[in-house]
Amino acid sequence: MPTYKAPVDDILFLLNDVFHIERYANLPAFAEASSDVVAAILGESGKFCEEVLTPLNRSGDEEGCTRHDDGRVTTPKGFTAAYKQMVAGGFIGISVPTEFGGLGLPVALTQSVNEFLASANISFAMYPGLTQGAIAAILAHASDEIKKLYVPKMVAGEWTGTMNLTEPHCGTDLGLIRSKAVRQPDGSYKITGTKIFISAGEHDLADNIVHLVLARIEGAPEGTRGLSLFVVPKVLPKPDGSLGAPNAVSCGSIEEKMGIHANSTCVMNYDGASGWLVADENRGLNAMFTMMNEARLGVGVQGLALSEVAYQNAAAYAKERLQGRALTGPKYPDKPADPIIVHPDVRRNLMAIKAFNEAARALVMWTALKSDLARHAENDKERQAADDHMGLLTPVIKGVLTDQGFANTVTAQQMFGGHGYIKEWGMEQFVRDARIPMIYEGANGIQALDLVGRKLGKDGGRAVTAFFAEVQGFLKDNAGDAALKPYLDPLARALEHLQQATMWFMQNALAKPDNGGAGATDYMQLFGLVALGYMWAQMAKAAQSKLKEGADGAAARLNAKLITGRFFVERILPEASAHLARIQTGAASTMELPVEAF
Ligand SMILES: Cc1cc2nc3c(=O)[nH]c(=O)nc-3n(C[C@H](O)[C@H](O)[C@H](O)COP(=O)(O)OP(=O)(O)OC[C@H]3O[C@@H](n4cnc5c(N)ncnc54)[C@H](O)[C@@H]3O)c2cc1C
Repeated sequence: MPTYKAPVDDILFLLNDVFHIERYANLPAFAEASSDVVAAILGESGKFCEEVLTPLNRSGDEEGCTRHDDGRVTTPKGFTAAYKQMVAGGFIGISVPTEFGGLGLPVALTQSVNEFLASANISFAMYPGLTQGAIAAILAHASDEIKKLYVPKMVAGEWTGTMNLTEPHCGTDLGLIRSKAVRQPDGSYKITGTKIFISAGEHDLADNIVHLVLARIEGAPEGTRGLSLFVVPKVLPKPDGSLGAPNAVSCGSIEEKMGIHANSTCVMNYDGASGWLVADENRGLNAMFTMMNEARLGVGVQGLALSEVAYQNAAAYAKERLQGRALTGPKYPDKPADPIIVHPDVRRNLMAIKAFNEAARALVMWTALKSDLARHAENDKERQAADDHMGLLTPVIKGVLTDQGFANTVTAQQMFGGHGYIKEWGMEQFVRDARIPMIYEGANGIQALDLVGRKLGKDGGRAVTAFFAEVQGFLKDNAGDAALKPYLDPLARALEHLQQATMWFMQNALAKPDNGGAGATDYMQLFGLVALGYMWAQMAKAAQSKLKEGADGAAARLNAKLITGRFFVERILPEASAHLARIQTGAASTMELPVEAF
């Protein structure tokens, strides 16, 4: 059975030594985030994930969710009790403002806790994760009345949230949505339509479920410009928040699927259900994007989370499994064979996952801090810069962390040989579970197109220019640091590749959009490599300066950081040149074959 240990020390290193959150102590969300508070939340949530959620991962996968004849859906054994415990820990509302019952702490902390939850049990983690996304959309766009009625209940875990975009005939192309909304004299709307693949659409964890539904108001324009967003509760709340009559919304069926068996994926039927507008009419997609930015960051975290738990188990196995002898002679002559961790090829695999995970965690933390700054920074310029960063990095984090997260679960499974393929070891579940984050919240190909087609050129390229300037600034400021040179030189080369690719798109993709489309995924991966390389440069600098200060107890951990970072810049970052080469070939060989040749 797999085990899990929450990487609390790694997160504290990032918060305290790399990103120095004390610098932000004057800002609202950070004022209360004293080191004691942060350590307590990470410690408690970590323990909950290790001891309560991890053991439920396997049983939840085997049992799955059950839809009963009356339309009720029950989650696997142990889930309702674990959910109560999670709610008592206050983990849903860590970053929700205190006036709505939350703790008002930085988003960076929420994302760290979400990583623990998803490592331990991604199916379970999705229930509060979707609630957080729905809360974000309501807080950003709904009326005060809706905020006051819904958000405190959601923070308290009494009501959960969902997002309803997908319909049988449309997923990526939301302009095709057919669900209808009809205005009522009292200002509400009647919603009718069918949504499919709705995560957490029906379950037994909470008394009410708050569906955020995209639909088209009668007479609204075709396409995405005619979509509005509605809050449609499963049970209609009375003004005091107590529950009234059931709404005309029901779960028609649940999907049998490859993984995340313990999360209910529902067909939802809206049969003239009462709903209330979130944001202005026809501005629904815009409001949904608020939810999607948070949700996409959260899905990127799922990729990292599964990569982390798969790595931990592969590393433990590699230290125990005895096969063959080290190339340099027996390392454990008293044993019949050496543990497989002595073999360079096994090391190569483990190092690749470890080097990715630690940098990915830093990238999430950096971006989550920007999300805090986008809300709380003191002046418009800083808020805007942080928002630009979020917009630019969100598709990169979603796409790269979930593509690589899945690949890493396969690599970790490989370390088990045939045993990885056998259910008992739990590795095949990580592989199955890690597959979906690449698909939902916008398939990864669409993330790449979002990056290249929308984010690069937005506001005259302001966000990408700022990103380049920041990395170049770091390279320049540290150019005289000989100890850092092994990290900076490869980063500078990869950055150059990224800049060349960006220039290539400007010159070749505007006139011929297929060139952009054919190179988008390589560009996203290249961007990810540079961003992760930048994280390693910063972590190496932090580790070196801590070691200089004489970090007694932490020396082994800090030295391990430096070695792991070197592995990344020497053995993973050079992949940047292959991505650039592919981008520069353009779309010709990709698009040349006639359709009938496929
Ligand atoms: C387990 C699960 C849970 C889900 N949870 C939810 C949920 O809670 N709420 C919700 O609303 N939806 C949910 N979804 C739906 C999910 O978001 C969609 O499946 C996803 O967005 C893709 O849409 P689609 O399946 O219709 O694929 P399509 O849109 O048909 O796409 C098929 C393929 O074509 C590619 N493609 C499509 N258009 C383009 C284009 N213009 N350019 C390039 N490539 C393109 C896509 O990248 C994809 O690879 C869930 C799905 C699953 C399987």
